[in-house]
Amino acid sequence: MTSIVVLGSTNMDLVAYVAKPPALGETVTGREFRTVPGGKGANQAVAAARAGADVAMIGAVGSDDFGVRLRDALDHSGVDTDLLRTSEGPSGTAHIVVDDEGGNAIVVVPGANGTVTSLDHGDEALIATADALLLQLELPLSAVTAGAVTARGLGVRTVLTPAPVQPLPDELLAATDLLVPNEHEAAALTGIADPHAAAEALLHKVPEVVVTLGAAGCLYAARGATPVTVSAPRVRAVDSTAAGDTFVGALAVALGDGRPVPQALAWASAAAALSVQRPGASSSMPYRAEIDAAFA
Ligand code: ATP
Repeated sequence: MTSIVVLGSTNMDLVAYVAKPPALGETVTGREFRTVPGGKGANQAVAAARAGADVAMIGAVGSDDFGVRLRDALDHSGVDTDLLRTSEGPSGTAHIVVDDEGGNAIVVVPGANGTVTSLDHGDEALIATADALLLQLELPLSAVTAGAVTARGLGVRTVLTPAPVQPLPDELLAATDLLVPNEHEAAALTGIADPHAAAEALLHKVPEVVVTLGAAGCLYAARGATPVTVSAPRVRAVDSTAAGDTFVGALAVALGDGRPVPQALAWASAAAALSVQRPGASSSMPYRAEIDAAFA
């Protein structure tokens, strides 16, 4: 079984649904409120577990009630949380306002995620057992960089989602095997709007890049190889939240299973297309049998 370790964030998403979001200084009445376990790290962990991998998560929840729920949600998805720390203080939270058009505005407060600044010996031993380490940018850069450098030293494939997008230290890029930005992140990292040209530019920094293009699919580029474009299945999308995290989790599993790159991209696209047809973030992520059925 493919073994994946995720070094990343856990957040409780606090979602208010409103007809129109408030302007600064304004108060509006919302229609509904939900608390949903999330965070890019936790979402990728659940995606990979449902896609059929053995998954463990390194990160931190807070010592509040949200922390208990975030850990439970991962446990229930079959993610190993033995090395998920509980740090004194609040869990990470994402304060989300969703309007009737599906547009959103989000404030993320890192909370416990901000306490993960480095790795310890247990983390390194766990990473050593993995086929791939999945990283995003919702933990302090010092920890993300330490994780990538450690994995690289151990010969473990590193897969970095550069979100929320920010300048990436050379040390982190040098230890990244596969970078998976969406088209906006690719443009922000390179200053180049065209995703093909942005991917080419990113190959000066990392050996492999996948730029996700929403409903238009994705683009794969590797040093010395012809780029591959994979179109997304045409589906009726109702909620694209965490489509990117579903894609990355499934892609890491498919590559770990030994699928050739074009097939792995198509399998991950099938997984992400399933997730956008259902409401929710991690709750919308498909299981391996569903992905196989959609892929066949
Ligand atoms: P999010 O922030 O919502 O998690 P993202 O911006 O990181 O997403 P996208 O490029 O929007 O990432 O989507 C990731 C992948 O999900 C795409 O490459 C595609 O395979 C799939 N996908 C997204 N939207 C659709 C859609 N409407 N129909 C089919 N597949 C989709």
